[in-house]
Amino acid sequence: MNLQQERIGHLCRQLKLESMATLYPAVAQDAARDALPYSDFLERLLERETRLRQERTREVMLRMAGFPAIKTLEEFDFGFACGVQKSQIQELAGLAFLERAENIVLIGPSGIGKTHLATAMGIRTTQAGLKVKFISAADLMLQLGAAQRQGRLKEYFNRTVMGPSLLIVDEIGYLPFGREEANLFFQVVAKRYEKGSMILSSNLPFGQWATTFADDATLTAAMLDRLLHHAHIVSMSGESYRLKDKRKAGAVKKPTTP
Ligand code: ADP
Ligand code: MG
Repeated sequence: MNLQQERIGHLCRQLKLESMATLYPAVAQDAARDALPYSDFLERLLERETRLRQERTREVMLRMAGFPAIKTLEEFDFGFACGVQKSQIQELAGLAFLERAENIVLIGPSGIGKTHLATAMGIRTTQAGLKVKFISAADLMLQLGAAQRQGRLKEYFNRTVMGPSLLIVDEIGYLPFGREEANLFFQVVAKRYEKGSMILSSNLPFGQWATTFADDATLTAAMLDRLLHHAHIVSMSGESYRLKDKRKAGAVKKPTTP
């Protein structure tokens, strides 16, 4: 590296143009080869820096969102589960629901693709440059409980509950919550109501949600009232996708229908 390159690198870093220092020699070489005007060279260089910066931001946002796996809508087989209309999901994937602070609730048995769809919508959202938080209901309760005990509840709400443009809470209903936890979850729903979208998934139909929220029918009704006021409900049914391949291999018998 010659002295001028070192000086340019130093100036780029001072201006926080991290990629430009390494990009510019190649871009300059191409510009010289194509006899580009200086302004075209500068434009190309700025474009490359911007693109790399956006890619880095999206990678960081994807990591921070905490998705359990990378799943996309392209990988989703719409012919598999009953109740999932491709047109409805494609419409939702346009992300207009986020602008209207509407919710999506995915209801259906285990293995039907709820986490897959929630993740795919979440990834679409990060690709649009918006912040997403994916968390299981059990982990959310643990974190809320810990924040409350440590006197950091307000901070937790500001940052984790209200910070993201989309909050995804997966697997409501697998673990029953105590009264305290049910109250905290109610606050999550109430705080985001008409302010920011949530995607929720559950194996329980709404009529049974009280069983997971400390058998508190009043609290559950008030929560569902807010949650479902502006919501898209995707009711999925059918057998587990996880069992499909096993069944194909003959390891699991098909359930007999009565
Ligand atoms: P759930 O959250 O409803 O229990 P998951 O979304 O975790 O189910 O799905 C279980 C597995 O099956 C995942 O690996 C998921 O990617 C896959 N899967 C489920 N439904 C579909 C589908 N319709 N098309 C493609 N893959 C699917
Ligand atoms: Mg799941």
